[in-house]
Amino acid sequence: MTAVGFIGLGTMGAPMARNLVKAGHALTVYDLNEGAVAKLVAAGATAAASPAAVASASEVVITMLPDAPDVEKAVLGQGGIAEGLRRGSLYIDMSTIDPQTTQAIGAALREKGVEMLDSPVGKTVEHAIAGTSTLMIGGETNVLERARPVLSAMGQDLIHCGGLGMGQAMKLTNNLLASVLITASSEALVCGAKAGLSLETMISVLKTTMAWNQQLAVAMHNRALKGDFEPGFMVKLAHKDCRLALAMNRSLGIETPVGAATLAALQEAIEAGLASKDVGAVLKLREDPAGVQVRLPA
Ligand code: NAD
Repeated sequence: MTAVGFIGLGTMGAPMARNLVKAGHALTVYDLNEGAVAKLVAAGATAAASPAAVASASEVVITMLPDAPDVEKAVLGQGGIAEGLRRGSLYIDMSTIDPQTTQAIGAALREKGVEMLDSPVGKTVEHAIAGTSTLMIGGETNVLERARPVLSAMGQDLIHCGGLGMGQAMKLTNNLLASVLITASSEALVCGAKAGLSLETMISVLKTTMAWNQQLAVAMHNRALKGDFEPGFMVKLAHKDCRLALAMNRSLGIETPVGAATLAALQEAIEAGLASKDVGAVLKLREDPAGVQVRLPA
């Protein structure tokens, strides 16, 4: 059993934190949202008054926050994790942010004698609930081995991607492709429906060809194609990941024209008021002007 601290109890963080409690770890939690904290306390966690207080109660501290500025603030800001961490403790950021911010935070913590891993999370909230997420891990091998009992409570496939920041490089690569796939799949289904094809026919064919993908098979099947556009994975987070992936590619001198078109579609969804809806709402974005709906039978 490890004393674990967890900061960021949102869509993903709450079930991940619950799985740590279920695995027998002593959990201390913090979130800006007091209601989210209360639910974890009811599940067996202890509340702390700040990220620093979480860190001083913990051997391993985890963050699962929206974006890089949130992580920087929670770690290096006033009352942040860095103030409470003891020499020899371990910090794991499981949010999706950029490799550069990860490496800068890692360098700041190393000066305090604290090791860091990045371990962004793959798959969906349903997998986070089941504890079967894919974890993309960056950092030293010995640090990963130290963290393994804690990470195993939240993930099924723990994949070491390289040094610190490489988990984030992998996650941005993954999410660039995932965003392209859901946007393109939505366009194609609406196009087929407008041409007069039923969803049943389209799925029967697509399932057998190279066009099939997990967005169609799992994410859209479970939500958008049932007319459910509640998150899940919010449009604004998909936009953030696509933006960070494009920035990473720009810094490497690489062109990503399909990624740029996908980012534009996600921007269009935000401007249409869909920022806090599930990313599957890109289907709705194409359906409305086409005057068709692509839905599974109730
Ligand atoms: P969310 O918005 O549901 O949750 C974020 C939580 O962080 C909220 O409870 C919020 O109150 C809290 N928070 C924000 N700033 C804070 C701060 N400074 N201190 C303490 N708490 C703070 O987001 P989510 O969907 O859980 O995503 C979290 C991260 O995981 C993001 O980086 C996202 O890209 C990534 N991710 C999400 C999914 C998904 O399917 N939702 C899947 C994989 C990865």
